[in-house]
Amino acid sequence: MTTAAAAGRCPDHRGHYDAVVAGGGPSGAAAAITLARAGRSVLLADAHTGPPKTSESLAPAARMLLHDLGIDPRALDHDHRPCHGTLSAWGSPRAQQTDFINDPHGHGWHLDRPAFDSMLRSHALAHGARVAEHTTAGRPARLPDGGWQVALSTHGASCTVHCRWLIDATGRRARIAMHCGAVRHRYDRLVAVHLRLAHDPHDSESRSVVESAPDGWWYTAPCLPTGRLVAYFTDTDLTPPALTTPRVFLDLLATAPHIAARAQGRPPRPGDVPRRCAAHTARLEPAAGEGWIAVGDAATAYDPVSSQGLLTALYTGKCAGEAVDARLGGRYDATGTYTARLHETFDGYLLGHRTVHSWEKRWATHPFWDRRQHPPRPATATARRL
Ligand SMILES: Cc1cc2nc3c(=O)[nH]c(=O)nc-3n(C[C@H](O)[C@H](O)[C@H](O)COP(=O)(O)OP(=O)(O)OC[C@H]3O[C@@H](n4cnc5c(N)ncnc54)[C@H](O)[C@@H]3O)c2cc1C
Repeated sequence: MTTAAAAGRCPDHRGHYDAVVAGGGPSGAAAAITLARAGRSVLLADAHTGPPKTSESLAPAARMLLHDLGIDPRALDHDHRPCHGTLSAWGSPRAQQTDFINDPHGHGWHLDRPAFDSMLRSHALAHGARVAEHTTAGRPARLPDGGWQVALSTHGASCTVHCRWLIDATGRRARIAMHCGAVRHRYDRLVAVHLRLAHDPHDSESRSVVESAPDGWWYTAPCLPTGRLVAYFTDTDLTPPALTTPRVFLDLLATAPHIAARAQGRPPRPGDVPRRCAAHTARLEPAAGEGWIAVGDAATAYDPVSSQGLLTALYTGKCAGEAVDARLGGRYDATGTYTARLHETFDGYLLGHRTVHSWEKRWATHPFWDRRQHPPRPATATARRL
């Protein structure tokens, strides 16, 4: 903790900014990098509250986005491991391989998520953004000139900053946009229960493995820096009782042969228990308003089966940064173009999501698979308007 924070004052962030970005995950960092590179003053605040960073893979196409953000993708080779493809037993007990050798972008990566996020924030800093670590952005207040006053708190110390634009990159909860009057449509009740297994020096599997099951699907991948992550995805109401106890989790895992083979003989990492987190599809409406814009999971959250979450986070962060820069420069149509593109991409995703789930016919009448065969009717969440 800095001296200022220890004294109950916010360490050195006060001031007027063109934009404040709430949330320092991939989407927030991409927005901050884009704005800073455009010469805008930007503060990037990250609360370090999560989501729980499980093992995640970054699709090969991310190379182009990283280049666009001024990041050499080779920088990833140090802290992350190459991902050479996917093995998928989906629609059949036989596993099919998709090899990234055929991908024009090359291999993907198994990420050490905290290291990846931290690398992106370092780039924002290097490009001139101010980065406030362990700092939570609170409920914003409108100023008479149309700008915002935002309360920041760091280790219990607080201060306020002023900005012309607010970027909500707070993840699935979209904390800032909900305060601005947006509503969140949730399309399903998917949850992930995940467990990290101990390191095995003979584990040479460099692909992600996916396997469908009667009431959901399984996923496993290397977990960085060491070990292997195993995750089960199902709906909230279909989650077996006590699945967050290791014994119950491992018993269910034993019914998924491809995943069980990769977990065999490996106990949970010392002190680890299965953890549960939200993984549902959701969309914010609207995704931008006067003086604010949402990016990443805050704007549209995708089912992890799509492997599109991180790509979308980087892409929407970059596009929103460009849109805010354009608005600051007087181009009033820029945020409308951004939200139209967001909707178009999300509609395409919904169609693809239904198609992918229609490939699994073995349990077509089971609720998990049956629910995904029909156009979803979203549930809506709201927060109090400013
Ligand atoms: C189980 C699971 C597995 C997944 N696997 C993959 C995968 O393999 N590949 C893939 O591409 N995608 C995957 N995803 C999706 C991916 O994790 C997300 O799409 C991605 O993290 C979205 O990035 P983001 O920056 O929008 O939000 P987040 O990564 O959620 O970051 C939000 C940040 O905002 C901070 N924050 C929150 N509130 C505040 C506040 N008030 N003030 C300041 N900071 C705040 C948080 O601390 C956090 O750092 C997976 C998702 C889940 C749930």
